[in-house]
Amino acid sequence: MTVDGQALLDAFRRHLSSHNLPVTQQRLAVAEAVFLSGAHLSAEEIAARAAARGTAVGTATVYRTLDLLVKSGLAREHDFGDGFKRYEPGSGKQPHEHCICSSCGAVTEFSNDRLERMIALLAEEVEFRPHHHRLEVYGLCRSCQQSNPLARAR
Ligand SMILES: [Zn+2]
Ligand SMILES: [Zn+2]
Repeated sequence: MTVDGQALLDAFRRHLSSHNLPVTQQRLAVAEAVFLSGAHLSAEEIAARAAARGTAVGTATVYRTLDLLVKSGLAREHDFGDGFKRYEPGSGKQPHEHCICSSCGAVTEFSNDRLERMIALLAEEVEFRPHHHRLEVYGLCRSCQQSNPLARAR
């Protein structure tokens, strides 16, 4: 599931210009952190990655930029119920669902064509026209199962 970070970054520049928003180094650094990681990062992790690459970005700017990214469809926002939001690139990845570890918070992706079709069919059965869906599976990731044999037995 690779993401073309450069293409997304170009799209973000265009989005900013077309909305008369300045293309600042801070905004680009936040966008880059989201696009290049391909993972599901918290705002804090995104700020840390931008800083590690040489651009310190204030918290307010991080959140405002993430908001712009989400509204433009270039990033996707997730709330997995652990008290903060996470962000991942909004396009360039195939449709996928998430498994969230309730012990360590690790997020694992999975995707399945039949599952996607099944969801569409089930929605059709109740005469619902879906435009998107989210499927979240909560439990224990592989390494947490291994470090806790009791959990594995359940
Ligand atoms: Zn875990
Ligand atoms: Zn994902």
